[in-house]
Amino acid sequence: MALVKPFPDLEEILASIGAGGSQVAEIEASEGAAGNISVYVGWPIEVRRHFPILEEIALPQPAPHLANGILIVTGSGRRLRDIASDPAANLGVVLISPDGASGTLHTAHNRLFERLTSEWNSHVAVHDDTVARTGTNFHAVVHAQPRHLTYLSQIPDYRDEDFLNRRLLRWEPETIINLPSGIGILPFMLPGSTLLMDANVKSLRSHRIVVWAKHGVMARSDISVKRAVDRIEYAETAANYEYMDMLAGGRADGLTRQEMQAVVAAFDVDTSIV
Ligand SMILES: [Zn+2]
Repeated sequence: MALVKPFPDLEEILASIGAGGSQVAEIEASEGAAGNISVYVGWPIEVRRHFPILEEIALPQPAPHLANGILIVTGSGRRLRDIASDPAANLGVVLISPDGASGTLHTAHNRLFERLTSEWNSHVAVHDDTVARTGTNFHAVVHAQPRHLTYLSQIPDYRDEDFLNRRLLRWEPETIINLPSGIGILPFMLPGSTLLMDANVKSLRSHRIVVWAKHGVMARSDISVKRAVDRIEYAETAANYEYMDMLAGGRADGLTRQEMQAVVAAFDVDTSIV
């Protein structure tokens, strides 16, 4: 997928990141300053009017496929719920150099952060890998900490990908429709580590959302920030049902395999997991 003209302008993209941040907050997946959002834009945009302060930075690792592109990303320690009221103060814009290894960070005079998000390496790596594979000109990545998904990831059985998907996709027809490649799961790894970055890239090749055990999730979309956050909301809603059923003593049926197959056939869902 790629966006087609007319492309959204900078203010529309900033507003979409703000709306995404608010939606993550509404589903209670960003306590304090938890969570972060970034967007890759593959067409030229004038950013200096909103972000006039310039600073040369090295990327956390080379991103050759993002060369000459733009990354808009949340600042470290900023609250996702605060982006909408003042996007420029909470976001940085990186114009990637032609070498794909460095860039120019553009920020606003009222910038409220020192550094970019602590998960910056994972954001850059996922954007670079997706653009390399698909050639998309737009890509949104969202990290959030939805509590039911994260709670389930504390239970060893749910760290098995087949088990996790079998249990979570059974609560609503919408889940398989919106998450046709299911939910990835990674064991606990140190936040911001190279280990997590590499495993995360790998899992997001075959999924649109991955759970980082005992921490949170990362989701991506080549359409919009909203679509990425919606994926988190669908997965978290499923986890909420699973948790309710656990408390209720496992009395619910959930959708049967046959019922799920009927949904997949009726809605022409391209999936191999049902
Ligand atoms: Zn986190």
